[in-house]
Amino acid sequence: MSKLALFEWLVILAAGLVSALGVPPSALLGWPVAVMLAALVVATVIFQRGEGRAGRFEAAVALPAIVLFSSSDPWLACSVVFAGLVIGGFLSRHREGAGARVVLSRAAQATLAYGFGAYLFREFAAGRTRAASVMIGSIILAIGFLTVVLALASIRRALQGVDYRTGLARDLLRDLRSIVLLSPIVAAEILVWPHYGAPGLVVAFLPVAFVAFALRGRAEAEDQATQLSRRTRELSTLSKGSLELFSAEGHEATAARLSRLLDSIVATRASAVVLWAPELEAGGTVYRFGNCQPSDQAILKWLESVGYDHSAPRKPALTAPGDVTFHLSNSPAWQLLGGLQTPEVIYGVVIVESDSADLRSPDTIDLLNLVLTQCGLSLQDQFLKSEMLEKNVQLERQAETMSSILSVSGSLLGTVDAARIVGTVSSAIERVAGVGHVVVARYDEKSNEYVHVVDGGGEEDAVPTLGPDAEGRDGRLRIPVSRIAELSAEAAKISNSYFYSLTDLGRREAALLFGRQIAAQLNDETDVLVVPLSDQSSLVGVLLMTIATEDRRAPLDRVQTIEIFANQAVTALRSAKQYEAIRRLTIIDGLTPAYNHRYFQETLQREIHRQERREGARFSLAMLDIDNFKRINDTHGHQAGDLILKGLVQLLMENVREVDTVARYGGEEFALILPDQPLEGALEVAERIRGMLERKSLARGIDEREVHVTVSIGIAVFPDDGATASSLVARADAALYQAKRTGKNRVCAASASAPAIAGSQPAG
Ligand code: GH3
Ligand code: MG
Ligand code: MG
Repeated sequence: MSKLALFEWLVILAAGLVSALGVPPSALLGWPVAVMLAALVVATVIFQRGEGRAGRFEAAVALPAIVLFSSSDPWLACSVVFAGLVIGGFLSRHREGAGARVVLSRAAQATLAYGFGAYLFREFAAGRTRAASVMIGSIILAIGFLTVVLALASIRRALQGVDYRTGLARDLLRDLRSIVLLSPIVAAEILVWPHYGAPGLVVAFLPVAFVAFALRGRAEAEDQATQLSRRTRELSTLSKGSLELFSAEGHEATAARLSRLLDSIVATRASAVVLWAPELEAGGTVYRFGNCQPSDQAILKWLESVGYDHSAPRKPALTAPGDVTFHLSNSPAWQLLGGLQTPEVIYGVVIVESDSADLRSPDTIDLLNLVLTQCGLSLQDQFLKSEMLEKNVQLERQAETMSSILSVSGSLLGTVDAARIVGTVSSAIERVAGVGHVVVARYDEKSNEYVHVVDGGGEEDAVPTLGPDAEGRDGRLRIPVSRIAELSAEAAKISNSYFYSLTDLGRREAALLFGRQIAAQLNDETDVLVVPLSDQSSLVGVLLMTIATEDRRAPLDRVQTIEIFANQAVTALRSAKQYEAIRRLTIIDGLTPAYNHRYFQETLQREIHRQERREGARFSLAMLDIDNFKRINDTHGHQAGDLILKGLVQLLMENVREVDTVARYGGEEFALILPDQPLEGALEVAERIRGMLERKSLARGIDEREVHVTVSIGIAVFPDDGATASSLVARADAALYQAKRTGKNRVCAASASAPAIAGSQPAG
């Protein structure tokens, strides 16, 4: 039982006691008492409306009764008032739905007020002259009545935890006004009674009834007017508020506007708005307003302890100051807790503390409920909007990716140039996936290493750098196979690729993968993605790229997009390789691995064209013929002859550079194109080959004996000996003829001034 209830029962007990005390049963049976009791009941039923107004109308009726009997017996007055108000209260109770305790305690409070008034009257006014007693008695009655009424109301407030002074002046004014209006009439009744008895009293009571009725009408009109203006105010608050709530962007703004709106409906002392994150485990954010004392953590913890972290009351729940277990402000106040929710989702909880009596009225609670519902809808609206925006961005990105994939497919179609393929793909990845640097490294079987073919340094560097000499030792960064294998850790795997942070990887490792130049540009907030380029389970290369850590776009989506591009590259590289294989067939000699005659002519033209544009450039052409080959065929068989041809080409290839061309000119004659090689260099190469042949046997004859061959070589230099292909070939041929003529197994230069280097042994 609350303190208030206890107080009310005590008041009822006191009123019951004084009503029963000292009343001779015979007095109750007298007809004036019966008349007054009946009048009191009727008046209460007719006039009484709502809490706080009761005193105004019962006073009009009850006062004469008290005055009449109190001159002799204030206890009797108490009995009449108590009985009358209790009966009247119960009869009219349905109108406001008050409980028995409320009816009884109201009657008891009035009884005590009147009883005290009657007691004062008897002590100070009775026994004087009629006029004087009326004068003094009325004043004393009014003072006594008001004192008790106001004292009881203040105690009630104090027990409810509200400041007892709240509304004191308003109550005083209201009751004073009723008494001033009714006192003359009450005086008239008291004066009429001794002279005209009961009929006089009834006649005098009529104006009391009229005044009371008029007061009631006025009160009702006032009530309606205030209610109307309140409704209008509420409506405008609500429409303005909902507009504000629906235009708020983000949780913080919504919470601030909600708190302002709540404050405009009922003066709040402190409030807290807790909004839950869409992900359940993410917890809530607390927004505190007014004099809100507890920390965010404390508020969240309390909500969790009462189970409001996953639920909320369907209607705002009000707690009396005495029953509040978790205070927002440091003095007791009424507390309201409501959910910000739609039927499906709970977006948050609001706690409001106020000492305004308005918070208790059901109308206010309904209004607050409406506001909270609006806020819930606004939060839902914001959530849906942000979801939609996110989806839109995702769709746009997907569309962009798709069109990029299509355009890359289109531009790769028919591309056989490996350099262009990796260039196109790496710049598409940079553009679509928004990565930093893209490095493409191709697997080189010869060295068992990955060789950089694109060193991604952003836009300018996106030009493919895969040159014709890609497989040579050319300063390109090379990554040992074991390093890439170490990067294929299962824990780092996303889709078919591997993700590392730069801190995990270490700067040294980054420099090994990307080169020192790129590694120096990276900061610690960088992630590294390793995408294997595999073609039917064999690794043909690897894509390495850097991604800014803060760019948290769906990693899986992004990696998968990159892998699509990687697959495009692999497919294109495979067709390029197949094309290359077919093309080789058309340019390679049928018997030996040397280039054929046609390719020799093309290459010679190309080289002349290339050298023509360069100041002071030179290159050499060497023509080579096997000495006495006819005889070798005749002696050892044509198969041995063929083997010798193959072995010779092998030897030639091993003894020239990557950039040099070894071609079969025809029969047992070969041509060497040696770019950027002046005569001295060419002579040296030719002499080395000639010397090696002297020492090395290339085949065994039918009799299993080793067969030795020698060669004669003629050299012409561009542009000194000839500036066209045919003149150059003719001059080299002439030099070869010279070598044959002067004893074979020797090297001769076309230029007359150049020294001819003769072999040490004659052909045999
Ligand atoms: P010389 O030192 O003057 O060059 O004497 P030679 O016998 O080599 O003379 P020549 O260059 O006229 O001889 C060419 C011979 O090379 C003719 C032919 O039997 C042989 N020959 C040409 N093509 C092939 C081939 O594909 N296989 C074989 N086994 N022999 C070939
Ligand atoms: Mg020949
Ligand atoms: Mg020959």
